[in-house]
Amino acid sequence: MLTAPPPRYDAVVIGAGITGMYQVYSLAKLGLSVRGFEAGSDVGGTWYWNRYPGCRLDTESYAYGYFALKNIIPEWQWSERFAGQPELFRYVRYAADRMGVRPYYQFNTRVIGARYDETANLWRLKLDQDAVGQDAEVTCRFLLSAVGPLSAARMPKIPGIDAFQGQSFHSSRWAHDKDEGSGAINFTGQRVGVIGTGATGVQIIPVVAKTADQLYVFQRTPNWCTPLGNHALTPELTEQLRGSPESFLKFIESTETAFPYRRSGKKGTEATATERQELFESLYAMPGYGIWLSGYRDLLTSKTSNSYLAEFVASKIRHRVKNPLLAEKLIPTNHAFGTRRVPMETNYYEVYNQDNVELVDIQEKPIRSIVAKGIQVGDRLIELDVLVYATGFNAVTGALDRIDIRGCAGLPLRDAWADGPTTYLGLQTAGFPNFFTLVGAHNGAAFCNIGVCGALQVEWVTEMIGRMREQGLTYSEPLIEYQEQWTQHVYEIYSKTLLAESDAWWVKTTVNSDGSLRRRALIYVGGAPEYRERCAQIAEKGYEGFKLL
Ligand code: FAD
Repeated sequence: MLTAPPPRYDAVVIGAGITGMYQVYSLAKLGLSVRGFEAGSDVGGTWYWNRYPGCRLDTESYAYGYFALKNIIPEWQWSERFAGQPELFRYVRYAADRMGVRPYYQFNTRVIGARYDETANLWRLKLDQDAVGQDAEVTCRFLLSAVGPLSAARMPKIPGIDAFQGQSFHSSRWAHDKDEGSGAINFTGQRVGVIGTGATGVQIIPVVAKTADQLYVFQRTPNWCTPLGNHALTPELTEQLRGSPESFLKFIESTETAFPYRRSGKKGTEATATERQELFESLYAMPGYGIWLSGYRDLLTSKTSNSYLAEFVASKIRHRVKNPLLAEKLIPTNHAFGTRRVPMETNYYEVYNQDNVELVDIQEKPIRSIVAKGIQVGDRLIELDVLVYATGFNAVTGALDRIDIRGCAGLPLRDAWADGPTTYLGLQTAGFPNFFTLVGAHNGAAFCNIGVCGALQVEWVTEMIGRMREQGLTYSEPLIEYQEQWTQHVYEIYSKTLLAESDAWWVKTTVNSDGSLRRRALIYVGGAPEYRERCAQIAEKGYEGFKLL
């Protein structure tokens, strides 16, 4: 009797960002035949694509990256507390070389389809037509997506978007003329428009404002932005701030989001006004995300506690922006502090005191169209030479949505997740055997210091596949009841926080038939330690909740 031919590869990994590279390395080390596919021409993912001026981490550099690879950490000395894109790109390329993963990858190759073949228990991949090399047709046993939570660039839907005759870029598709540099554009004498004031816009705007002849910032919704406090690092200072990599890793793994911050045991509603003022002042003055991720423990559960911090940050904005009317426009009114990603800024608010910068409130008067010479807002034509779309990403599930993934009985993943993702641990979905979604929906890593939380998933999945191989198993799929429990758990935890009232990028909003809005969280906010513990227990119980054959 004929048996189905074996797959070409044991495993295929989609994506060569920090997650995908580590997954390729780990599976190859296990002895699997592995192939990686990457749409870009090099490794790096986020740090390959995002080359806009001002692009940098808002995680402390020394808390980001490959802790598990003991040789990389001590050898790499970060030059800044929050590294910029050129340094990050150097780091990921260095890490790729140290792991030796480049030969496993086929670059300039986008995976456009993946179909599970039930008869042969393997995945058949479809690559884009431009793909070069031997692997135009690929089959594999295990398919691992590491396509990135913030990699599917989102363009706004504005009439006439192709009509503009100046230079225009989405922030994550910035023109660059050399390997690692960012921002290879000179804004001197230019009229520049930036659409969007999220984390990326807030990084770009102060850099462009330094040299542009005129900068127009098109703002729909202001965000709560707080100071980054970046500074240079020396080896001595790194040692002082971090201590040994091993003990530091233990510390960050014990915090909610794997950042080097822990919330106080106290509630904001229990503190006196003086105590609150003192704490908020110290948090505002310190570098990084302390103001969001440390401080009072009820910040994201109590409206009252949240309003204390929001009012404090609003007062800082009023103090920093000289024009009182403009200051009010920059203060959010539609979401509580920290319920959307808090952009970290460097002189962002001071920019609005400059004569060459104008805030265009497109909430008040929407953009009518984009025309050859610029942007039409109401009756006014704002003429531009350069137009920057800092409009973010179709986050978390966006890059997967762009691949035609079909599981058992040809079911498209897009349909399976039409009402929001349904997963077990955010790592697998029933009906899609042997398909693993790293740093994807509902697995916590997207609401985390991704280097650390992504590594946890890579290591956990690698161990699972390793144990399966030891036992001669070739099939893994979550059981429906465990998947339902996990999905409910994700939504329940989210609904107990103030995050549930806000439209952040980690929420999928759809319109119900009666016109009401339905919000589905794409992230897990139960905390990294809780997630880690749960994964460990499930593994100890022989991968409870997974059908392994
Ligand atoms: P990515 O780095 O996004 O890599 C995914 C790769 O998959 C990409 O190279 C993409 O081309 C490829 N790909 C996608 N679809 C396909 C396909 N169909 N076929 C082939 N290849 C495909 N996180 C933090 O923890 N701290 C920070 O401070 C931080 N700052 C950030 C700043 C910016 C501007 C951005 C955009 C993100 C930031 N992030 C931050 C999130 C960041 O995405 C992660 O830290 C991390 O880089 C994710 O790594 P990844 O490998 O999971 O995904």
